[in-house]
Amino acid sequence: MTPAEVAAYPVETPHAGRDDPMALTRRRMAANGQWQPGQVAGRRWPIGCVALEITQRCNLDCTICYLSEISEAVPDLPIAEVERRIDMIHALYGPGTNLQITGGEPTLRDRAELLRIVRYAADRGLRPALFTNGIRARRPLLSALVDNGLVDVAFHIDLTEQLKGYDSERALHAVRSRCIEAVRGLPLAVYFNTTVFAGNLAEVPDIARFFVAHADVVNLASFQIQADTGRGIDRFRHDAVTLPRVEAAINEGADGALIFGQLQPGHGECNRYAMALVCNGRTHALAPDGGFAATMMDATQDLTLERRSPARSIARAARWLAAHPRHIGPTLGWVAGRGWAMRRDLWAARGRVHKLSFMIHNFMDAGALQCERLDACIFHTATEEGTVPMCLHNARRNEFILSRLRAHGDRPDAEPPFQLTPKTLKGRAKHPSGGSDGVGR
Ligand code: SF4
Repeated sequence: MTPAEVAAYPVETPHAGRDDPMALTRRRMAANGQWQPGQVAGRRWPIGCVALEITQRCNLDCTICYLSEISEAVPDLPIAEVERRIDMIHALYGPGTNLQITGGEPTLRDRAELLRIVRYAADRGLRPALFTNGIRARRPLLSALVDNGLVDVAFHIDLTEQLKGYDSERALHAVRSRCIEAVRGLPLAVYFNTTVFAGNLAEVPDIARFFVAHADVVNLASFQIQADTGRGIDRFRHDAVTLPRVEAAINEGADGALIFGQLQPGHGECNRYAMALVCNGRTHALAPDGGFAATMMDATQDLTLERRSPARSIARAARWLAAHPRHIGPTLGWVAGRGWAMRRDLWAARGRVHKLSFMIHNFMDAGALQCERLDACIFHTATEEGTVPMCLHNARRNEFILSRLRAHGDRPDAEPPFQLTPKTLKGRAKHPSGGSDGVGR
């Protein structure tokens, strides 16, 4: 896309006569060659999630960061504006929409306001998730957020954060374990986000192995490939860091049992996904027969499973099967097939099985956006007027994060005279030569 096309790309706005969001998504997927059996978007949900950036501030200075040089100096959205955007997201995509409460680092927001934001979203039937680097997301706060309706927490932990004393991804397992213990037993679905770049590609198998070993708490491991967008000092993706290479590295850490692509969330160049069963510390494919996975995903469009409670999910699935008897045979066949394939591990683990999903997210460089992928995007970010694909938001970030200040005359000439101070300087603005100092934890 040319800079003019990027600048003109439309914001998705709630308006009278807007079509059913699910139908809109199906049309988008079909128009971009992505509507095939196994396509999740337009079947399970109209949008994978919407990010709501409640602050642009962060307590880290990662070497790869999608925020902009001025982000740290931009005032937080007033609480009324945050709530207005939640209402807008509800109007656009409806109840049940996954809402990422993010930033910057959302836990830098006043605690009472953070609880209020989560409560507001949950009260409107959205599914609020806290996206955090974990530094301030300790158990008391997480527990209070759960009491206010939080359903998921996603920890971003990796070497780009340059945490003092951690010089390898394996060393960071101690930090990941602390996050896991902070949430263990809370009714939360737990995700981990890992940025993949040349500096940690070789350790991806070990990171995947760690999540397999903690599948009793971890529900989703998302690997996000570096993109040249934002303020980070490490800009360019190494040629070795490719989607197939990352897929193979994850599979190496998951006993080679993952089948990516059976279920496809959005565009195939954007996202790769595999769901697996973990038993006795070993990974097993959820469904070797891709057809069964796609058929059941399609058939169960009206079945909402409870991510935080496997028991309740199994009960709901059983009721659904009773109401759809033609699927009982294939499902029993699947159970028998998995049971036989996993018999030794099932025996050793006394029948305990956990579901673990792996996602690869392949963000686009800000200077190389592809319209087809934006049109089929399933990860949007909220703006003042509506939502846009995350890649586009990152490419036009200053425009979107300053629009409200311009519109409300707070800083009509918003484009810096922000005086970036040593405290607000981050990324390349702080390290024009590319060096950086670590942060203790
Ligand atoms: S955020 Fe970017 S990479 Fe991700 S789905 Fe949207 S367009 Fe694709």
